Amino acid sequence: MSGRLANKVALISGGARGQGAAEARAFAREGAKVMIGDILDAEADQIAAEIEAAGGAALSVYLDVTEEADWREAVAATVRGFGKLNILVNNAGILRMEGLEETTLEIWDDVIAVNQTGVFLGMKHAIPAMRNAGGGSIINISSTSGLIGSPGASAYHASKGAVRFLTKGAAIQYARENIRVNSVHPGVITTNMVTENIAPDTRELFEQATPLGREGTVEEVANGALYLASDESSYMTGSELILDGGYTAQ
Ligand code: NAD
Repeated sequence: MSGRLANKVALISGGARGQGAAEARAFAREGAKVMIGDILDAEADQIAAEIEAAGGAALSVYLDVTEEADWREAVAATVRGFGKLNILVNNAGILRMEGLEETTLEIWDDVIAVNQTGVFLGMKHAIPAMRNAGGGSIINISSTSGLIGSPGASAYHASKGAVRFLTKGAAIQYARENIRVNSVHPGVITTNMVTENIAPDTRELFEQATPLGREGTVEEVANGALYLASDESSYMTGSELILDGGYTAQ
């Protein structure tokens, strides 16, 4: 298959819905073979089947990003299924809106485990396979919450800020092995994460405060990830792609 990701193999965590599913579809459309890793088995299977039905190549694997053994198996299953690994999207994430004093230790631990430890484990286990493939591209999904603060979501901000710097450290460490690592910082994107956690009136305030005047779409984030996954971004590493309708430019 020709395309911007021809002959590449991608593993996408949290690929069963939302932004991850949009990335899986976009990558497959551009010729990548895609492994979808998620805790939502049925949804992941369905996205993979949909991609296959459209003429692409996709598989799914159970992956809880907080479990090191799951990462080992997800990377191994990708290499078994498609022969190698070139692209990792660390996309799985959870949002909790509690402010600092309202954040219980349990909430803190949950958010850090998925959003921060999950990204660390993903990179740790994907890098050896990328080295074997002669290089690769790692795309860590942070957030505008990893760039600026807000009155709530303390654990989320902390985790997404950590992803930004995990990214820069890994980019420097692995640059000479042709493994590029960048972070993506979406603003408010219409997905289950937003509809389930943010009240409609708060979403409206965000929209009004966003220069482009609306929430972003999963396809708009997938287009950014596609650029970072492809060789078109070959001179970009340790950097940040902000997709926020201009919110943080103010
Ligand atoms: P979503 O809730 O629709 O999708 C998140 C996916 O991650 C789901 O498929 C879920 O099952 C999966 N997931 C959760 N915990 C997991 C675990 N332990 N192991 C494996 N998979 C797990 O939300 P989304 O908006 O598509 O979020 C994708 C990423 O984008 C997240 O990292 C999120 O923090 C980030 N983000 C979202 C927004 C937004 O406004 N939607 C903004 C900035 C950043």
